[in-house]
Amino acid sequence: MISHSRRDFLKTSTAVAGLTVVRSLAPTDVLGLSSPDASSRIVPFPLSAVRLAPGIFSEQAEINARYLDSLSVDRLLHSFRVTAGISSAATPYKGWEEPTCELRGHFAGGHYLSASALAFATSGNDVLKKKGDELIAGLSQCQAKNAGGYLSAYPPDLFEHLVQGKPVWAPFYTYHKIMAGLLDMYVLTGNSDALQIAEGMARWVGDYFMGIGAEQRQRMLRTEYGGMNEVLVNLAAITKKDRYIETAHLFEQPDFLDPLADRRDQLQGLHANTHVPKIIGAARMYEVTGDRRYQQIAEYFLEEVLTARNYVIGNTSLEENWKTLPGQLKDTLGWKNAECCVAYNLMKLERLVFGWTASARWMDEYERALFNCRLGTQNAHGLKQYFFPLAAGYWRVYNSPEESFWCCTGTGAEEFAKFTDTIFFHRGDEIFVNQFIASTLDWKEEGLLIDQVTQFPHEQGTTLKIKASRPAARTIHIRIPAWTANAEVMINNRALEAVADPGSYLAIRRVWQDGDTFSISLPMQLRQETLAGDDSVAAVLYGPLVLAADLGPIPSDAPDRVIHSGDTAPDKVPSPDPLPKTHATPGIKPDQWVKTESKSELRFKAATQAGDRELMPMYKVRDQRYAVYWQTENPKQLS
Ligand SMILES: [Zn+2]
Repeated sequence: MISHSRRDFLKTSTAVAGLTVVRSLAPTDVLGLSSPDASSRIVPFPLSAVRLAPGIFSEQAEINARYLDSLSVDRLLHSFRVTAGISSAATPYKGWEEPTCELRGHFAGGHYLSASALAFATSGNDVLKKKGDELIAGLSQCQAKNAGGYLSAYPPDLFEHLVQGKPVWAPFYTYHKIMAGLLDMYVLTGNSDALQIAEGMARWVGDYFMGIGAEQRQRMLRTEYGGMNEVLVNLAAITKKDRYIETAHLFEQPDFLDPLADRRDQLQGLHANTHVPKIIGAARMYEVTGDRRYQQIAEYFLEEVLTARNYVIGNTSLEENWKTLPGQLKDTLGWKNAECCVAYNLMKLERLVFGWTASARWMDEYERALFNCRLGTQNAHGLKQYFFPLAAGYWRVYNSPEESFWCCTGTGAEEFAKFTDTIFFHRGDEIFVNQFIASTLDWKEEGLLIDQVTQFPHEQGTTLKIKASRPAARTIHIRIPAWTANAEVMINNRALEAVADPGSYLAIRRVWQDGDTFSISLPMQLRQETLAGDDSVAAVLYGPLVLAADLGPIPSDAPDRVIHSGDTAPDKVPSPDPLPKTHATPGIKPDQWVKTESKSELRFKAATQAGDRELMPMYKVRDQRYAVYWQTENPKQLS
């Protein structure tokens, strides 16, 4: 999330793109996959069909749910009520939710609703659903007091600041979060009031923005507006009302989209988390309208960011921006790397593009981000990280429970409530197993239940146990990650001579019977990846896991581990350590300087110039200073 001191990036531009029509949707198709090639897409199962089994993900989801439950609905509603002229005796929250903050309401009436809806849909959490319902009842009362369907925790004056070119944080960004929260509550919990409120908000936006000239609108869009285009497309898909597509088009910036359509990377100088949501909106525009230009934009953007601008953990940016030319990440390791929201948004994009392409590449990338820069960014109290330091010698810090409410608090609350959403997808009656997470898929319509039993990544593989009401011929596709070699498949404990290249899906078609088991081993190896633009700096991975060096305890005089304000980084961050140096000599490979001490416990040891160092998966780093990247001596010889 950018602060209001941000500079403007986008020049005034010309008219918005041409309007497009929503094709009719099947009544149950809330995703709105209606364009001509929709039938070939791979889509997620409804969240209610997949449950986590006990394991590292369910533990983290429960911690997140407890944090969400610790928050009070009346306190969340405070600024909405004050804005609507309704009295409130509640103590408002602080940080980005305090009554003077121009972003207030983004978490209280937005992320909180999304996270509660997700927790209900993925785990049946009735307590959070009830709180979400109470929040919506309160928001409904506030909207009724406002004019024209407007709903926010601040008055519409802030939008006028945009019109007048006065400094203001990000009014549409916050508006998007609230609309998205309402839609999630409608789609995932069935709260129909939420849909009505969202439609009222969309009406206000349409009326307001249509009344502003195209040039003026483009100037206003220089200020971060989140996924306004995405949420309006989603609303159009749900309601089948074309006018929301028209409003969504008002939130498009040709100056940003046109170079991407021409496959040109002009991202240098742009704020990462301002721009990824715009592409998610473009991706949804493609899905709902079938306009392939949006597809090309989304695919090019994702490919470019992941190859030319990403760090090994699966996330991008320094000080929230793309500061360099593509492929030039030398000297960009610092405290303020990889804002957590950006990973959340890139992963949303990865799962959309996967649905069109069926390419394992995107699920490999999703896994990379999930294990290395999402898992591990929440502490034992449900508090979340903002930045992800990648220079050596730094450590994790978190928001405070009631005094921060960063953007990353919000996207983190959603992420940790939706770990089930990408494990299984389907295309017709074919099943795709994308992620190796202990879970159960209960596909009631097909009379099929699949238990995925695994301790992954402590176990190098997974087992699917089939429970079927009747034998049925169908294809199960399972991801063979690019990081593995010599994967082996067993059906009912008998080896199957089935092969698929790493980085693809193995498809097994057979008549699946009740009691069948399908096991796959996915051997992990040590490997290394260099930093884009600097062959002398490398990170070590084991399978999908980035390994971090344990650099010892956090100094006792270090800044707080929990930040008790809206600030996103500690006040006085010391200079980083130099990157740890390997003993690299010509021809050395990672397994010659990193030793696997225990596969099941994921313990490793590296020989460095300062002696042996313990290595552990980055997601397990809690209270240590760490290093993700290493300085190598003979980079050209490393492989
Ligand atoms: Zn953020």
